Amino acid sequence: DKPLLKIEDVEIAFSSPDEADIVAVRQVDLSLYPGKTLCLVGESGCGKSVTARAVLRLNDQNSLIRCGRIRFSPSDGETVDIAALKPDSLAMRKIRGNQISMIFQEPMSSLSPVHTVGDQIDEMIMLHEGLKPKDARERTVALLDQVGVPGPRERANSYPFQLSGGLRQRAMIAMALACKPNLLIADEPTTALDVTTQAQILDLLKELQEEYGMAMLFITHDLGVVAEIADEVAVMYLGDVVEQGNVFDVFRAPSHPYTQALMRSIPTIARKKERQRLSPIKGTVPSAKDRPEGCAFTSRCPYAFEPCAGMMPGRTSVSGNHVARCHLLTENARKAEVPA
Ligand code: SF4
Ligand code: MG
Repeated sequence: DKPLLKIEDVEIAFSSPDEADIVAVRQVDLSLYPGKTLCLVGESGCGKSVTARAVLRLNDQNSLIRCGRIRFSPSDGETVDIAALKPDSLAMRKIRGNQISMIFQEPMSSLSPVHTVGDQIDEMIMLHEGLKPKDARERTVALLDQVGVPGPRERANSYPFQLSGGLRQRAMIAMALACKPNLLIADEPTTALDVTTQAQILDLLKELQEEYGMAMLFITHDLGVVAEIADEVAVMYLGDVVEQGNVFDVFRAPSHPYTQALMRSIPTIARKKERQRLSPIKGTVPSAKDRPEGCAFTSRCPYAFEPCAGMMPGRTSVSGNHVARCHLLTENARKAEVPA
């Protein structure tokens, strides 16, 4: 099977007039297969949103994809290298309107406050399928119904501010689905919601994924959400993917000290009962401006040793497609090779 999306060795930098460029992500390699979910997980500022937005060329004007390719291969079309397209080109706009949609933490980033949700979804459907307004509205009502908006025909006439947070989120999802995307990019879509609504929205996304056969690139800072929804996971730290692979493999054998620390900070029921404190990761993420040459986790890593700060660790295979970037892994492999 061919990946729907293949991000190859991508580096993205932001320039500012009076400072050196800031590298936001470097050497990112990710594959997402049709109908599957890849989660990007990490703390805020780790580059997960920058990476996802690059797929739609939505990053700021001062951002630059310095190298690498973003290959998008829909089953019903030719492979394009999104990294080589101009953000405002016709080809890119076609991809945005037809093949890849995005949903956000804040629904108002994609919904207009001055139009009813029905009118906005109608418009997407008319654009995409060339339907007449009346037929488009029938599709809109069906879509709102499908995403769990009660009384969809009446609610279609609501303005976004008249809906609850959960319903606004559902309306945004309906809008994202209007073009029947091959790929849905979801940037922390449940982070602002209460726990119950969050669970409902995750279930809904899984159902819709099955029904539409779409792949999801899902961004979250929450490993609990990863466990719910991911097939594959990529853990990011300060612009680097430090560990990636099948979600079961990564959860079973987290191999990068940063992933291990994230895992320890998941609240378990036992910990909640014992009111045990989480073990948060000591120290703070350094700024991308003073990232060390080598492993970016050096300043917080309890295992940091001689090569870490100066040399970027390579990708070491753990098992299957599970890889991590940490000098400990190569060091251990080297020790294991030494004959007794
Ligand atoms: Fe820690 Fe070194 Fe591994 Fe980085 S490379 S995670 S500093 S042991
Ligand atoms: Mg973000």
